[in-house]
Amino acid sequence: MVPFLHDVAADLIARLGEGLKQTAIIFNNKRPEAFLKKHLGALQGNASFSPAFFTISSFFAVSTNLVVADQLKQFFILHQEFNKLLIAEGKPTLSPDQFFPMANIILSDFAEVDYDLVNAEALFTQLEDIAEIQQQFSHFTEEQQQFLERFWSSFSADKQRTHQQKFLELWKRMPTLYRNFHQALQGQGLITSAQTYRCLAEGKADFPDFISPYQKLIFIGFNALNKCEEKLFKQWQEQGRALFYFDTDDYYLQDELQEAGFFLRRNIFKSGLVNSFSGRSFLGDKRSMVEVIKTQGHAAQAKILTERIDFEALADFADDPEKTAIILSDESLLVPVMQTLPPEAGMVNITMGYPLTQSPLFGLTELWLKIQEQINKQQKHTVYYRDALAFLSHPLSGVKAAEREALQNKLLTNQWVEVPLTELHLISALAPNFFTSRHNGLQTIDALYLMLTAVLEQRQRQNQLNELEANLILEACKKLNLLYDNLDQYAPSLGLSLVFALIRKTLASLAVPLEGEPLRGIQVMGMLESRCLDFEHVIILGMNEGTMPKRNVNPSFIPDSLRRANGLPVLENQDAIAAYLFYRLLQRSEKVTLVYDGLGGETEAAEPSRFIRQLAYESKLKFNYLQQEQPVKIEPSNVIIITKKEKVWKAMEGFFYNGNPFKTNNISATALTTYLTCTLQFFFRYVAQIKEPEEVAENLEANQIGSALHQALEWFYANLIKTDTIITAERISEKLTEVPEYARAALSMVLFNNRTQLKQPNSMQQIVLQIVGEYMKAILEHDRSLSPFQIVELENKKDYKYHFPIQINGQKKYLQLYGILDRVDEKDGQTRIVDYKTGSDELKYSSLEKLFERDGKAQNKAVVQTLFYTYIYEQVKRTNNVEPNLYAVRKMKEEGTRFKSGKTILQSVDLEDAKVAFTGYLQNTLDGMFDQAIPFLQTTRLETCQYCPYKDICER
Ligand code: SF4
Repeated sequence: MVPFLHDVAADLIARLGEGLKQTAIIFNNKRPEAFLKKHLGALQGNASFSPAFFTISSFFAVSTNLVVADQLKQFFILHQEFNKLLIAEGKPTLSPDQFFPMANIILSDFAEVDYDLVNAEALFTQLEDIAEIQQQFSHFTEEQQQFLERFWSSFSADKQRTHQQKFLELWKRMPTLYRNFHQALQGQGLITSAQTYRCLAEGKADFPDFISPYQKLIFIGFNALNKCEEKLFKQWQEQGRALFYFDTDDYYLQDELQEAGFFLRRNIFKSGLVNSFSGRSFLGDKRSMVEVIKTQGHAAQAKILTERIDFEALADFADDPEKTAIILSDESLLVPVMQTLPPEAGMVNITMGYPLTQSPLFGLTELWLKIQEQINKQQKHTVYYRDALAFLSHPLSGVKAAEREALQNKLLTNQWVEVPLTELHLISALAPNFFTSRHNGLQTIDALYLMLTAVLEQRQRQNQLNELEANLILEACKKLNLLYDNLDQYAPSLGLSLVFALIRKTLASLAVPLEGEPLRGIQVMGMLESRCLDFEHVIILGMNEGTMPKRNVNPSFIPDSLRRANGLPVLENQDAIAAYLFYRLLQRSEKVTLVYDGLGGETEAAEPSRFIRQLAYESKLKFNYLQQEQPVKIEPSNVIIITKKEKVWKAMEGFFYNGNPFKTNNISATALTTYLTCTLQFFFRYVAQIKEPEEVAENLEANQIGSALHQALEWFYANLIKTDTIITAERISEKLTEVPEYARAALSMVLFNNRTQLKQPNSMQQIVLQIVGEYMKAILEHDRSLSPFQIVELENKKDYKYHFPIQINGQKKYLQLYGILDRVDEKDGQTRIVDYKTGSDELKYSSLEKLFERDGKAQNKAVVQTLFYTYIYEQVKRTNNVEPNLYAVRKMKEEGTRFKSGKTILQSVDLEDAKVAFTGYLQNTLDGMFDQAIPFLQTTRLETCQYCPYKDICER
């Protein structure tokens, strides 16, 4: 493959020889410079003719003595001028953040007006009447006049709605705004880039002779020219000063219907710019194979790189940058590509900006802004606990592990949903800055600047600072500096919330170049950066319809009809530019791989770009359509088998009764049902004793509502039985008004282990108190209907331990079964075990056999647990005829409190039969639990894992 720039270099040397050093070589962008220098160097041997290199905008900027204003400065000046007009109209002004999105559109419209030498006054003149159009724009063609008519007819007086009215107001303001904006810039020694073009093209440049140091101006690889460029290029050609190297292919240049050649035909055939190369034909003669790969998903496109590039073979050509290029038609694929390229890819040269939004730094900045908003905007002296935790665990926060753990523990102990600022005095580098309140906008920008430099210094100290991170921090600091200066000059007293919004807007678009060694390794770039460059193997990702070409145009206040009438860029021009970039990349390459996302996205269709279909239809290229294979494979999940040997068995021996009930591990009702659900979960929790992570109870979970209810009912009845264990309806009724107090004290106990600490419940806690109160009333209502009854005992935590015999290797051992009974009462001579439940527990169950099935679908923990308590109670008390009752608070009104299997209600004889069967299943289960031949295994029911605290260990 002979690259375009190689041909250009050879032609320049042949044409100009030594004279090359008196030339200016001008490209559209910076990238091709290094490549052309490489080819010139290779062809010239030792001789060195060094021309001057420019991008077109830097070249034109030499013609003015004004400084090109940065975007932020332009924004503030435009804002100031816009507000002056509003004030003159007697209208309220706009704050900078309100104006920000509108300003970007106006600035881009003004730039287009200048680039294309449109008369701003005429364009922005308000035309009420179509007749006026003909008069004002008599020089327009009939087609242009029709565009104008179509536009203005939608604004006729009787149809005007509010937004149209607003638009017309804005429209009316535009000519003055345009004028005042440029004057204001000039007054400060500033100019826009587009105005430098315009001044030069209109002969008003400060230094019209700025080209005099060069004998020749060489323009390489241009395609779509704006009116300024067109005019100046023609002028310089007529003066014999300019040479043009358009990168063309007769395939699209000579075919009137080919959109890829639209601008080149205009440049060469209409404007008469002479191409130094002519009669070039590439695509028309090509018969090679083009691979088109459909992938399953957006990021999956990057995955094909590892299959399609032979990285090892490429390593031998590391010095040849024209071997392989990965072109991203969709630039959001940059991060997936960076993550996919393997280490053996070696040198990769990325000519694209890496966005701040994709870096951990952005997360930290966002967190800082969020916290500052809380303590400034909302005037709080606390920080939401999740934000405080997010800071503590952020990789860039630099908080030391010991300090982090201490604060995390304090936060849990105190159950702080809002963490007092006074507790956040951490001694890490960033912390003091992080939680300190700032009182005005400038201080806030300054503090963020300091925070970012603190990150930089800290990462440097830790030897962890990489180039990308450093560049991002420095660029962010630069932007903040600019914002500070502009705010200081134009809006020093801007409110904090507006400053926060401006900081966000300023940083949102920040990206830093990732340029490596420009002439080494695989080249990664966007479509625009590929101009003038050629590669043997071109891989284009993002070849979806809707992305290539892009479906949407940049936002503009200038309607399509007016754009057409005034020769401003329209959607078709954008398509023509995209078509050229695509066809050009293919014309010299030897191997082409085109990749698209077969699932599509919000802005792209799930189909290949029409350019692919077009090429397949019209060219002689062969197309091989492939689908990325993503074999459905069972994830190699972490299979865990724990055998009951050595240390595990040693831990299990802790469950055997050793004569001291306080030093023997209990088998509780929950331990039993956990074992039935997943034996491995039982192992993690009860044998290995891996604790579940504690959390601040912000959204009080069901079990905390349950705990509060248990506590409140215990205290309620404990108070009643102080005088009499017989509970009557009247005694309950008398105390009903105290329910809210019990609920509050109980919730306080659950949260803080102190019954009076909950003084000002937050909104979530108030809801919980309401629920606990309602549940209490439902139970007391039921008890009233049951009364009179006698309370036997409440929440007895110490007496119900029963030593259950099992056989281990022929030896008898005893397991300590343990239960805390919510309540034991007696009604008409019937002893009842009452278990309160606040969840969705069911009274119905299929059969006892199914309840004990390992990993079984038909488990019912409430039945097993309540029968377990009943069993222990009867064994400990050496009694029988005890009845289990479940107070499933949500259902008890309709369904009662007794268990049911089919039509059988668990009472009297049926209950006694069930107890016998239960004892058998219990024995089997406990034997299995301590059978050394049966390992602990993961459950086969994946839905169980969803809420399991150990799912990370299991990778489920
Ligand atoms: S994640 Fe699933 S398999 Fe693992 S312990 Fe939990 S419930 Fe058992």
